[in-house]
Amino acid sequence: MPPTPDTSERLWRGLPVSSGVAEAVVHVLKDDFDEPAERPIGQDKVDAELARLDHAIAATKKEILALQTSIEERGEGSEGDIFETHLMLLEDISVLDHVRKTVRNKGLNVDFVYYKLMRRHMEALRGVNDPYLRERFIDIKDITQRVMRHLRGEQRAELSFDQPVIIVAHDLTPSDTVQLDRSKVMGFAIETGSMNSHAAIIARSLGMPAVLRMHGLCDEVHTGEHVLLDGSEGLLIQRPSAETLARYRQIEAQTEAQEDLLQALASQPAITIDGREICVGANGEFVDELDSIVDSGAEEVGLFRTEFVYLEDPDASEDALSALYIEVVQRLVPRLVVFRTLDLGGDKLDPRLAEEPEPNPFLGWRGIRVSLGRKDFFKRQLRALLRASCHGPVGIMFPMVSGVEEVRAAKAVLQECRVELEGEGFAIPEKIEVGAMIEIPSAAVTADLIAPEVDFFSLGTNDLIQYSIAVDRLNERVADLYQATHPGVLRMIRMVVDAGQRFNVRTCMCGEMAGDVELVPLLVGLGLDELSIACGQVPRVKQAIRKLNQFDCVTLAIEALKLSDAAEIRALSRVLAMEAYPELLA
Ligand code: PEP
Ligand code: MG
Repeated sequence: MPPTPDTSERLWRGLPVSSGVAEAVVHVLKDDFDEPAERPIGQDKVDAELARLDHAIAATKKEILALQTSIEERGEGSEGDIFETHLMLLEDISVLDHVRKTVRNKGLNVDFVYYKLMRRHMEALRGVNDPYLRERFIDIKDITQRVMRHLRGEQRAELSFDQPVIIVAHDLTPSDTVQLDRSKVMGFAIETGSMNSHAAIIARSLGMPAVLRMHGLCDEVHTGEHVLLDGSEGLLIQRPSAETLARYRQIEAQTEAQEDLLQALASQPAITIDGREICVGANGEFVDELDSIVDSGAEEVGLFRTEFVYLEDPDASEDALSALYIEVVQRLVPRLVVFRTLDLGGDKLDPRLAEEPEPNPFLGWRGIRVSLGRKDFFKRQLRALLRASCHGPVGIMFPMVSGVEEVRAAKAVLQECRVELEGEGFAIPEKIEVGAMIEIPSAAVTADLIAPEVDFFSLGTNDLIQYSIAVDRLNERVADLYQATHPGVLRMIRMVVDAGQRFNVRTCMCGEMAGDVELVPLLVGLGLDELSIACGQVPRVKQAIRKLNQFDCVTLAIEALKLSDAAEIRALSRVLAMEAYPELLA
């Protein structure tokens, strides 16, 4: 008799990173590959397609060699021998020649051709009894999975759904996110990650619930299963009972009523009781978020992360890019849109730019370093941005700046693009605001040197925290050390604001810290001029500011700067927040 299916409710707990509740079916994103679809490619794309193969083979080889070394170091030499076989299979010239010829002659996508050939080899071995040949089947499968994973990282086929889904995955990279049909995604439940991993940031930006660190979830829930995801409490409920569903419907009604109240005030400015106005903007990544940004009452887009649009189509021409940026600008006019130039590297990799995987990508070729190292590529983006600036207010800022030299170098390229475009007849506005992201400690402590070169600073606290405390923002193991209110971080923020005030340069904060409602009193007190946050948080943060006295906030910040303990500093800010707006705190 088949076992009786379990019908009782099952509760999973994880780290709540983006609030809200969603009820939908699950879609499990498998770690291994889905069978790739056949896709014709134009002859002009063949070389790029073959370069993808070369990169995937090189990256896989590196991965296998690293594994082999670590196994040998542990003294497990005989296991290390498996990798010799893997390397031979990986670089088998007959396989690679066949794939290259088929891609070239038939004009097909490389992942499909590679997968099809390897599957043929696997199928030939699958049914055999000979133990040696069965081992070869496993070896080929392993190699194929590795190569496909590297190829998949580079392909951009959209993962579409025919109904709303909650994505369940082991991890979710920015490249995974851009492949999802986001109009159908209602939430994320992920096995790994931290408050500031991009899956969390994107979920907050798209205003959908997300819960991370649900270990073991992928093996226990199945695609098509109906679940409830509670991003505020950090819960996923399998087989929710009628009672649970009723309870959640009630919570939903209450939340909606509160959101409606906040929404009614959303377009009002954020001015403290004693008259200090703070500009509250939204962060954006995708064109499909623009309507929500407008509805949120955001006064500007303080950070448009251009790398997500880039990852959707890395080959986009200058014309295509500028059309896209123009769409963003026109849909947000008259608001200022601050485009951040590409911040590739770190966890947002474009494998075609990185010739070799890096041992420490967050300390490697990232952000402005990539742009300055690849001037052709940088100019394509800057020219597209300047062309967009003819259609509405545009600001341009540079990511991962470590000192003033990089700002000067980037501005020189910007100027070169301006001169070229003006020569081509474009009427570029005389004044385009230029800013530097302050997210590396060396930039924070030399903000006074950078200030004369820029119109604004934008504090990228997600990185500033990770680099100043030396704590990887994605590493769960050290997540407790990742503290926004660490005294070292606070002093740097104050240093930057201070330099800004001296040089008449406004200071914005666009990291996730800016959307933390408990910390709004502290941030106002530290003297920030602007906060740019996930658009779902905009009405709440604006309302919080309206309930505060600037004077009390400054007094609080003076006290906070004297404290030595991150938790105490947070608690101090929370006390003022509780007094001023208890209804806005969870
Ligand atoms: C930051 O570092 O705070 C930031 C806004 O940039 P990102 O999260 O994209 O690195
Ligand atoms: Mg950053």
